[in-house]
Amino acid sequence: MRLVDVAVPVPLGQAFTYEVPDALDEKLQPGARAVVPFGSRKLVAVVLERREGEPPKGVKRVLSAPDDAPSLPGDLLAFLRDLASYYFAPIGDVLKLALPPIERATQQEIETPSLFGPAKGVAPRQVAWVVALDAPAPAKSSAQALALLAHVRGTGPSPLSRLCERWSSARAIVKRLADAGALAIELREAARDPFFTAPVARDAPPELTGPQAEAVARLEAAVAAGEARTFLLHGVTGSGKTEVYLHAIAAVRAAGRGALVLVPEIALTPQLVSRFRARFGDEVAVIHSALTDKERWLMWQRLRKGELDVAIGARSALFAPVRDLGLVIVDEEHDGSFKQEEGVRYHARDMAILRAHKSGGVCVLGSATPSLESELLTRGKKAEKLRLPDRARAQAMPVVEVVDLRRIGAGPTGDKRISLPLHRALEATLARGEQAIVFLNRRGFAPSVRCEACGEMCSCPSCSVALTFHKRAGGILRCHYCDFSAPLFAKCPKCAAPALALEGLGTEKLEETLSTAFPTARVARLDRDVASGKAIEKVIERVRAREVDILVGTQMVTKGHDLPLVTLVGVINADAALSLPDYRAAERAFQLMVQVAGRAGRGDAKGRVLVQTYAPEHHAIVFALQHDVDGFIERELVDRRELDYPPYSRMALLRLDAPDEGEVKRAAQHIALAVRDAAVPTVLVIGPAPAPIERIRGRYRYRVMLRSRERSHLRRALQAALAARADLHRSVRCSLDVDPVQLL
Ligand code: ADP
Ligand code: ZN
Repeated sequence: MRLVDVAVPVPLGQAFTYEVPDALDEKLQPGARAVVPFGSRKLVAVVLERREGEPPKGVKRVLSAPDDAPSLPGDLLAFLRDLASYYFAPIGDVLKLALPPIERATQQEIETPSLFGPAKGVAPRQVAWVVALDAPAPAKSSAQALALLAHVRGTGPSPLSRLCERWSSARAIVKRLADAGALAIELREAARDPFFTAPVARDAPPELTGPQAEAVARLEAAVAAGEARTFLLHGVTGSGKTEVYLHAIAAVRAAGRGALVLVPEIALTPQLVSRFRARFGDEVAVIHSALTDKERWLMWQRLRKGELDVAIGARSALFAPVRDLGLVIVDEEHDGSFKQEEGVRYHARDMAILRAHKSGGVCVLGSATPSLESELLTRGKKAEKLRLPDRARAQAMPVVEVVDLRRIGAGPTGDKRISLPLHRALEATLARGEQAIVFLNRRGFAPSVRCEACGEMCSCPSCSVALTFHKRAGGILRCHYCDFSAPLFAKCPKCAAPALALEGLGTEKLEETLSTAFPTARVARLDRDVASGKAIEKVIERVRAREVDILVGTQMVTKGHDLPLVTLVGVINADAALSLPDYRAAERAFQLMVQVAGRAGRGDAKGRVLVQTYAPEHHAIVFALQHDVDGFIERELVDRRELDYPPYSRMALLRLDAPDEGEVKRAAQHIALAVRDAAVPTVLVIGPAPAPIERIRGRYRYRVMLRSRERSHLRRALQAALAARADLHRSVRCSLDVDPVQLL
């Protein structure tokens, strides 16, 4: 009997077997959707495998098959199955990452055509597309007309507007060729997309610098040879990595293959997107959270059919169905946002390597501050390093100076966090009509509120963290973990003394202090409280347009922006990142400092960076001052090797939480015991222990950490843990994080 194993969209690890009716045999290929009876429901499943064999008892038949061609192409399906296995994640959940919501719709929804019709209330804008037909061009066609026709025949349908950019009389030419039957004009619905609101002028590639040319040559050779290789493009900030990406993409497209570009946060990179559009036109799929389900689905369809061959987006773009994928680029590969921290906890950088490998493509990891993981890949010859040692336009690297807060006092504001040197530097920058960025890793007004009578800190009722005071939002206390908020108490909740005092400094307060200290300066702020999505872009645009003199912000200001008039960067508190209870704290602090410093002096004027710290001798700070990325990596790798931490070992974290503290503790002990009983060699079991933040949203949290140098051993230990998970009380949630990034 012909059978299929399918994955259903439920969080269950295993595949389910169904019988294939003859009529559906043709359609039920791996990757195709199948509507199956599941309990009392009908579910849309995805075929994993076909086979012949004895049917299991009570096997049911597939009801229908909505796809003519498999929804998920073979290489993508194979990749998803590997990903599921790597992270011990239910295949049904993993497939959900790759199928757009419409594709996952229930049978009933599939049969309801309204889903696929135009969205209600929005009249779709129509755009004229030019499509090639078979008739030859009229005998007396101009050279321009022949060139245009050859272009459309060669590259496929094109919006008329784009042809007009290239040939001044495109409109007239198209009309004549259409009359002759060589071309046709089709009205298509325009992409209603925030990234495509303004037209972008096409640009020509600049002449490459020597190191850019070398890197490009190496990548082009790998693409031409069809080598499935991984490269680490280590280029200082402003060295022109984007230009290297653009050339590599042009090379894969010329070879008839597609490319995928992953960036940390798409909202923070409108500039990067514009540069892609300037080079490749609007035929770039930009995948971002503002897309409607329908837009997402249309884009997905066009990628799958090969109508679009470049996709760019944040980590979830990893699953874009780019046809014949020849290149995967991960920009700012060190960035923490590539790790998904809920549901299927995958790391998009690690999986990008796998995905490229699976489809026989090249993977390029780019960064000014490579992660230790990627650096170790190059040392183990699993990746090849390409270097861009200097800034592209021969600007000098900024001068980085340390301000030792132990010795240097407050400036005129009286606030110690705006030291005298920083104050003077800001003054000088403003006097020259240049711009400054001031970076602080903490949003809100005051990070904590303490009672000066009894010492009690105001903390969240359902999380074991301090509440942050936000002034702008009407004076409220807010929890940054569960979004609890309350008006500022008049008296201490514990001792009732009217002695509550604001402590510490957040971006909101910093903005206020700077506005007061520099009354003529235009101060703007960039953090999660003021901006998301499109609004982030607006703030950055205002800085570019010189409408802002001082930009205050959190990590958001450190990422990738190319702001040529910024000549001063101030780091308010370099120690904040260093003090986290995490073996990666030094690495992260170092990356943050180098990245934020990299925003200074990208134009013609020289940049200056002031790093304020109480720990100027910390190696992360010492190396950052010297822009010595290699030195830092070398030193940090020695530390990691000594302590047997990743990337020298592999880690996995089992997180448990429950409303009852005793229950979760018992569960954690049970899991830890099961792993210890399995006695897998080389596997170190740490814990159970309460998580660093012991309670979030009213649930107590415990964790068990596993570590080993051997991935296969770690996997065996995890299997033991997962088997024991079945015994846990229903109120306990237990999730598994392979290669964890956040240890909180
Ligand atoms: P990175 O991503 O490495 O920080 P970018 O790609 O943003 O650097 O490039 C920094 C600046 O240098 C940009 O303004 C870019 O236009 C410019 N640039 C890049 N390559 C060249 C080149 N070969 N010639 C001239 N300018 C270049
Ligand atoms: Zn909370």
